[in-house]
Amino acid sequence: MPTGLVAGLVNEKGGVGKTTVPFNLAAAIARRGHRVLLIDCDPRADLTLTAGATLAQDQPSLYDLLLEEDRHISEVLVPLPHLGLDIIPAERDLAAIEAVWRELPHAQWPAGLRRVFEQAKQSYELILVDSPPGLSALTATLLRAIDTVIVPQQCSFTALYGLRELMTVLDEIREVWGTAPDILGIVVTIFRRTRHSAHIIEILRERFGGLLFNTVIPLTVRLQEAPEFGLPIVEYEPSNPAAQAFMELAKEVLERWHQRAQSAG
Ligand code: ADP
Ligand code: MG
Repeated sequence: MPTGLVAGLVNEKGGVGKTTVPFNLAAAIARRGHRVLLIDCDPRADLTLTAGATLAQDQPSLYDLLLEEDRHISEVLVPLPHLGLDIIPAERDLAAIEAVWRELPHAQWPAGLRRVFEQAKQSYELILVDSPPGLSALTATLLRAIDTVIVPQQCSFTALYGLRELMTVLDEIREVWGTAPDILGIVVTIFRRTRHSAHIIEILRERFGGLLFNTVIPLTVRLQEAPEFGLPIVEYEPSNPAAQAFMELAKEVLERWHQRAQSAG
């Protein structure tokens, strides 16, 4: 069994599935019998809400883990027993972490996230991290702490430029810090079967080849409804094509995780 892998869902665009994909993918991976942890690293806390993990007042969240070195993730985890997975929730206060970091030398910014991820790897096989839109200090620092990136991608022409931008940022991180996460894969989401979408997928295949996951997540209104009930699509409507797609995507992610671990020796 390879060691735990921390995969960040990153795309500078909003509304592309950075939250929907990890929640539904985590549930599908858990169904395949693996230990999965979700981490909400977006101050808007959409993943926390989507998972139905709303916090009691004074209950600690990711921000407290990042601030206080002697806290352990077990104090902050919210179990989702009906889904067989756990989540480290976020609150609005996470937005203040950037101000905390600005008091520190740049090299130290990812230390808190790395500590959280190291702890998580002791108990979980896959750790999926939601991220905010834009290339904020939070996202840039997250990119220095994760192992790999999963890019949720919509079938629009401008989205192609967003992908290039992300690759440039990863190159810059590698140049400055000596190492950067790789890209585990690009997953096309909110897919509507149109000529235009097929055209964009063709361009994605040409430019990014094997990075593209074979599985495409179709557009379905059920994925918009399900968060109201705190349920992933595999529970909410297992017969929905998107539920099957997430089960397939889970399989592909697990395969790439194994391949990656093997090639790392
Ligand atoms: P991000 O986190 O990148 O901002 P979200 O995951 O919140 O994106 O998704 C944006 C919106 O699109 C949400 O309202 C979500 O319910 C909806 N959505 C995501 N995936 C699908 C899909 N496959 N079909 C239909 N709606 C979707
Ligand atoms: Mg989001």
